[in-house]
Amino acid sequence: MTGPALLWFRRDLRLDDHPALLQAAESATVLPVFVLDPRLLEHAGPVRTHCLFDALDHLRRATDNALVVRTGDPVQVLGELVAEVGAGSIHLSTETTPFGRRRDRQVRAGLGDDLAWVETGSPYAVTPGRILNGSGAPYQVFTPFRRAWADHGWRGPAGSAEVRWCRQVDDPGPIPTSPLRGEDQDEELAARIGPCSEEAGRKLLADFLDSGIGNYDQNRDRADLRGTSELSMHLKYGTIHPRTILHALSEHRGDAPDVDRFSAEIAWREFYADVLFHNPRSAWGDLKPALSTMPYDEPDERLLAWQEGRTGFPFVDAAMRQLVATGWMHNRARMVTASFLCKDLHLWWPHGARHFLRHLRDGDIASNNHGWQWVAGTGTDASPYFRVFNPITQGKKFDPDGTYVRRWVPELAHLRGARVHEPWKAEDGYARGYPEPIIDHGEERAEALSRYEAARR
Ligand SMILES: Cc1cc2nc3c(=O)[nH]c(=O)nc-3n(C[C@H](O)[C@H](O)[C@H](O)COP(=O)(O)OP(=O)(O)OC[C@H]3O[C@@H](n4cnc5c(N)ncnc54)[C@H](O)[C@@H]3O)c2cc1C
Repeated sequence: MTGPALLWFRRDLRLDDHPALLQAAESATVLPVFVLDPRLLEHAGPVRTHCLFDALDHLRRATDNALVVRTGDPVQVLGELVAEVGAGSIHLSTETTPFGRRRDRQVRAGLGDDLAWVETGSPYAVTPGRILNGSGAPYQVFTPFRRAWADHGWRGPAGSAEVRWCRQVDDPGPIPTSPLRGEDQDEELAARIGPCSEEAGRKLLADFLDSGIGNYDQNRDRADLRGTSELSMHLKYGTIHPRTILHALSEHRGDAPDVDRFSAEIAWREFYADVLFHNPRSAWGDLKPALSTMPYDEPDERLLAWQEGRTGFPFVDAAMRQLVATGWMHNRARMVTASFLCKDLHLWWPHGARHFLRHLRDGDIASNNHGWQWVAGTGTDASPYFRVFNPITQGKKFDPDGTYVRRWVPELAHLRGARVHEPWKAEDGYARGYPEPIIDHGEERAEALSRYEAARR
């Protein structure tokens, strides 16, 4: 093999525990490359874009400024780079989403057979598609999948390589400035998000194992506490590999229920990626056809009220405002706001999933769109259709003192304790301009149930 090995980074923006990089570094100098694909950037809100640019900035420094960043169609960009440096091979982690697989096929065809195309590893502990049941079919339900996934097992972390970076490219290309640079409040937000770097991901994991995981099982549902790891951004950009997390967990001497619960959540991520691999159409369509005759409403101003956190339901509004302001939303709040869109506003889930994906810093097509389908009743392990989250009781239960709502809904900051969840019961509940509920939850719940029952017949 002649010429440098090109390492095409995608959802794996790290140097440690990176099997494709190890493979590339074995016999050649390595040209690290990231392609900014406008088709992906156009759907990303400012926080997501910030996280990506920040991760690239850290990766460039970690590669001693060798990382080449180019904007354009990967078919063209990579074809030009391969010719420019006379690359002998291209290395990459296997991509398993429908868009990623299609793109990779096109790039490979464009590069031709003379260049060695080497896929090693994936963004998952077990590459989607590998776990099949006794009849050779994919799993449809989480619990048996998780059992088979754990039985299958995974390799230990791959360690890091001695890499000789290729410096044949004169201009490595600029990393665009983050949309969160400049204004004070944006800088504050960037600081709150924290670095999207390999070092930060590892530190977050270590801190979580030191202190957070001890109460994970008990606190993970509380929207007002920091009860979860917040590792999802790092998993999304690959600044940490799930295998690194699972390995650290296996060495952790904590309470079994907490560790078990946390590893189950990692398994959900693997499960949804597997489901998407086998059902590419479920990215934007119903996985299960049982509700195909379900009548949905057309999006109108109520969708806008939901997106902007003006529904008049405090827990829903707090979560929706937190999402847009910070690119983050607690898992419980994701379930409640999704249920509100599907079952109180009677909208088809993709209307909400698209908004989440634009803003979530961990926005991931498999976890997001199947999380939505779980709520909507069209996915795997679907939440029973008759389960309609009550946005008021959910708020009282998972934000018992109202801290979360007061933080994100300043018009309700004057209401003490759990009173914040029911402003209609307080004399001064609407004194600061908070909107009244846009729907009657009881009525819409009944409407949702009758539509679901009719659609299932
Ligand atoms: C409607 C909806 C949309 C969602 N969209 C996304 C998304 O775009 N990206 C995303 O990573 N997760 C998504 N989730 C799952 C979950 O809400 C987040 O993974 C979690 O809130 C991230 O916080 P954390 O890292 O602190 O999680 P932790 O509780 O610390 O869990 C650790 C890791 O396990 C994985 N995980 C946890 N819960 C789930 C789950 N239900 N499904 C799949 N993986 C899970 C994540 O990778 C997470 O980082 C969604 C859930 C719902 C209900």
